[in-house]
Amino acid sequence: MSFLRRLFSSEATKAGRSTPQVFFTNTLSGKKELFVPLKAGQVLMYSCGPTVYGPAHIGNLRSYVFSDTIARTLEAAGYRAQRVINITDVGHLVSDADEGEDKMAVGATREHATPEVIADRYSKRFLEDLRSLNIDAEAIRFPHATQYIREQIALAQTLEQKGFTYRIADGLYFDTEKFPGYGKLGNFSKADLEAGARVAVAYGKRHPTDFALWRAAKPNDLQRWESPWGKGNPGWHLECSAMSRSLLGTEIDIHTGGEDHIQVHHNNEIAQSEGASGRRFVRYWMHNAFLTMGGEKASKSLGNVVYLSDIIEKGFDPLALRYFFLQAHYRTPLSFSWAALEGAQSALAGLRKISFELADESGKRTAPSEARERFLAAMRDDLATPQALGILWESLKSDEYAPREKWGLVRDAQLHLGLTLDVPLVGDHIALADVPNTVRALLEEREAARAVKDYARADELRAALESAGYLVEDRPEGPQLSRALRKK
Ligand code: AMP
Ligand code: ZN
Repeated sequence: MSFLRRLFSSEATKAGRSTPQVFFTNTLSGKKELFVPLKAGQVLMYSCGPTVYGPAHIGNLRSYVFSDTIARTLEAAGYRAQRVINITDVGHLVSDADEGEDKMAVGATREHATPEVIADRYSKRFLEDLRSLNIDAEAIRFPHATQYIREQIALAQTLEQKGFTYRIADGLYFDTEKFPGYGKLGNFSKADLEAGARVAVAYGKRHPTDFALWRAAKPNDLQRWESPWGKGNPGWHLECSAMSRSLLGTEIDIHTGGEDHIQVHHNNEIAQSEGASGRRFVRYWMHNAFLTMGGEKASKSLGNVVYLSDIIEKGFDPLALRYFFLQAHYRTPLSFSWAALEGAQSALAGLRKISFELADESGKRTAPSEARERFLAAMRDDLATPQALGILWESLKSDEYAPREKWGLVRDAQLHLGLTLDVPLVGDHIALADVPNTVRALLEEREAARAVKDYARADELRAALESAGYLVEDRPEGPQLSRALRKK
């Protein structure tokens, strides 16, 4: 958790206020519900992570800004969040229905590298993308599926002992007919579920919705492990059940993912986890709608994807993408276009300009206001981010609120929306008085190095300033600072 968020959360706790009410739409009931955690003041949260065979596209990133917004809203309300995002580095087959190509093998072949090298490359890149979007990766655990093979085998063994499985040549399968209420998430009919699955993919499979817990090794597999069922690979639904249980416990508060995961992946996670424990797995299932490109779901297999690196290369601030996501409610499909991203970037720039001026006018002191109450109510009402942004804009532009009240709103907006508002715009000149002492010291040391013509040292200090987020330009009247884009 960032310092600011910890400070604010502890403020709420110190003040002895009871945790405010927060409402979320639970896919399990299809309704908006009051959030009641398992343990008071704590939230256990699991988000389905990416398969690291290539970079995450901005559709995937919508999913993580969504789960980050849940965590921020709960933390600002005084909860302590424990978060897990899994890294899928086992080569699963391209479709949910256990067929197609092994994704890690696709990446390895494309880049002439081993699956391990590919996984390392793209899991690092994923974390960088999250950081660029102001997602505090240090506060999240990222277990890799390949490091939890033992736990996955143990879970499959429990299911086998409890009679939920059967063996065929292809491996160990989960018998969905044996799990009462299979498909309860999303309230799918048997016909829907069967249409979503594929019949007879594996010889001997009993029902279309049955799925692999363990797949027998195939001759060209690049990854394989020993198991009680012979050499092979865990089925792709198994890792989330096993890692969630290992890191967060048998029952958790919130599980998130994109809505494409509801029908198969999450219903299968429920069958595995609840079949094994005999208890409820997740209290609140939450799903984001798709990011679309030209009317279609953005997906690697459709080839219509944009990466965060494309956005940064075009000169956008990565947080313009975060702003763009927040303009739509997480349950509404959102259509990406470069023009819309430009709109988000200029709106963000506008907010930053107002906030930067307010920092001066308010002396960075906050005061409560009715606008802040409305902002918080919107965020706690199923993360109504479009309304919250509307309240923010309207209140910051209004003459009705004093600078300290407005600054209070800016701080709340930073905490909940993760937009970093109180910084000058990229390219804007920054007065020396506005930079932290550490940055000023670097700048002074650089001037001293330049004065004795130690240009190598001056260059090192320029690089240090840039990593701290400041560009330095040498002008006749002296060095000028402006904000640098966060370094990748
Ligand atoms: P995957 O690597 O395909 O499992 O995706 C990682 C996360 O991104 C999952 O929660 C997906 O549901 C989600 N996701 C994938 N494509 C999109 C999209 N176009 N829009 C929003 N979320 C998506
Ligand atoms: Zn999952």
